[in-house]
Amino acid sequence: MTVNKEPKLLRVDLNSHDVVEEEIPEELIEKFIGGKGLAGYYLYKEVPPKADPLSSDNKLIYMTGPTTGYLPSTSRLAVVTKSPQYGGWLDTWGGGQFPAELRFTGYWGIIFEGKSEDWVSLKIDGSEASIETGDFQGKKTSEIARQVDGYKVSCIGPAGENLVKFACIVNDPIKELGRGGEMGREGAGAVMGSKRLKAIAVKNGKKNAQKEVPEELDQVKKSHVKRVTTDEDIAWARDDGTPAIVELSDEAGILPTKNFQKGQIEGAEKISMEAVREMEEQRNACYFCPIACSRYVKVKKGPYEGIETEGPEYETLAMAGSNTGVTDLGAIVAFNDICDKYGIDTMSAGAVIAWAMECTEKGIHDFGIEFGDGKALVEMAEKIALREGDGDILAEGVAGASEQVGGKNIAVCIKDIELPGYDGRGGIGQTLAYSTADRGADHNRSWPIEDEAYGDWDPLTLEGKAERVVSDQDECAAVWSLTTCDFALYSAEHVSEAMRAIGFDLSTEEVVTIGERIHNLARMFNVREGFDRDSDSVPERFTEPMKEGPIEGQAISPEDFEKLLSEYYSIRGWNEKGVPTQETLERLGIKGLIESNK
Ligand code: SF4
Repeated sequence: MTVNKEPKLLRVDLNSHDVVEEEIPEELIEKFIGGKGLAGYYLYKEVPPKADPLSSDNKLIYMTGPTTGYLPSTSRLAVVTKSPQYGGWLDTWGGGQFPAELRFTGYWGIIFEGKSEDWVSLKIDGSEASIETGDFQGKKTSEIARQVDGYKVSCIGPAGENLVKFACIVNDPIKELGRGGEMGREGAGAVMGSKRLKAIAVKNGKKNAQKEVPEELDQVKKSHVKRVTTDEDIAWARDDGTPAIVELSDEAGILPTKNFQKGQIEGAEKISMEAVREMEEQRNACYFCPIACSRYVKVKKGPYEGIETEGPEYETLAMAGSNTGVTDLGAIVAFNDICDKYGIDTMSAGAVIAWAMECTEKGIHDFGIEFGDGKALVEMAEKIALREGDGDILAEGVAGASEQVGGKNIAVCIKDIELPGYDGRGGIGQTLAYSTADRGADHNRSWPIEDEAYGDWDPLTLEGKAERVVSDQDECAAVWSLTTCDFALYSAEHVSEAMRAIGFDLSTEEVVTIGERIHNLARMFNVREGFDRDSDSVPERFTEPMKEGPIEGQAISPEDFEKLLSEYYSIRGWNEKGVPTQETLERLGIKGLIESNK
């Protein structure tokens, strides 16, 4: 069977610049599928406990999945490593053209270990791979993409070189390559920078890969092409994209505004879907994605006239727009462009600038920037990436910066990671999802806010919330191991169907158990690093009643939250400290793995 023939990965020793091929044992695919799960297996097994994330002991693991690029909306990959921002498990996701091109070479993934003396790139041309030195230092991501013309690329910008704690990795960062992807949150770009690895460039993946798909998988592919082009639940992504959420969040009163001090902003329409649509130049898609959710925009007038970028997505509009009090869409587009070119996460960058604005407002520390100042937003993003002036403080993220200048009480973080664009007071289920996410505050693994704030599920009831979060997290871990895009709404059942089509007899229930196994593996990685119940916390701000708007007076009760957390642990088979029990690890078949690298 061609799709699945001899699964293999590349292991790259950056100390010696040796590149070797390695087989991926079939039993690992049965147990972890690919993507997040498979990369997580190698991370747990190979990175020593308490390793410094920016040392040569840490590993940077790229991983696609068994059917990456063969099914629609699956040109995505996971990068898994230990986070330099919070010291725990980090899995980050990106799409574009690069993931499918890598998978089509026959290599499912790449494990980078050690640390190079010189700045290098890994070049993969078909089945040939080698490390090359070159003139990479200081280059923006777009410059690197042009430097390796003819290749699909995954690279870092100056922020990764400068070890900015929330530096990201960027795939295919120029318009000519089609839709790209940013692998943000928690600093995978800084890990790549610490290894002096500037880029991975790949070309000549099998040109006829799609034609070699076995009949069973071809049928699965056709059914998903039909589904993603017609499913009404995906219509919002086909027609609009994530900026449509701005209006929903503002109406619900959960749009982060001025460092989460409020949940609505005057002038929200200026950063809405309609406003973004007016700047649209073209739609963009990852490889083989009929949804094409992305917009390439160009500022038409004002001080930022002529600046072009992909996006901005909802999270950027919320965290760098309303949360900094900025409704000048031109400034947000310029900020987005700087973040992509210098390689920093737009969400954390927006959050840390908003926090600095509140510090200035409250007299905690004068960063010289005020809410609503679009120019300051744009200029500070560049200073952070280059670690210039106050940008050097903010490059440490909200938690790190508050260690230096104070302002911990207004730091809206969980496990030292900035929150996404949904005020947790909008739903206790969402707050639980944030606090128990396996990589620090995260909304992608479970998103009950859609029913709690945009729907009619009582936002503060505890009933059903823990079950919902557990079930979402497990299914998500499994689906991400096949590297499908969230917007395409693949389910555990779809994963089972795809795996069967390539010869792995996994039922839907077994796929969900794989997801549970992966979530527990990530938890044990964090337990090993010293995280426990105390880390599954609620930001102080979410315990204060919302001051105004549709959810005025609403807050997360710490007592209710602790009750819900205990219920969550009990469903998961974890003890009261939030540690998976020996029985749970045994049931999930990872007890031996956990004991192999304590
Ligand atoms: S829906 Fe958007 S992000 Fe997802 S695969 Fe398609 S183009 Fe990429």
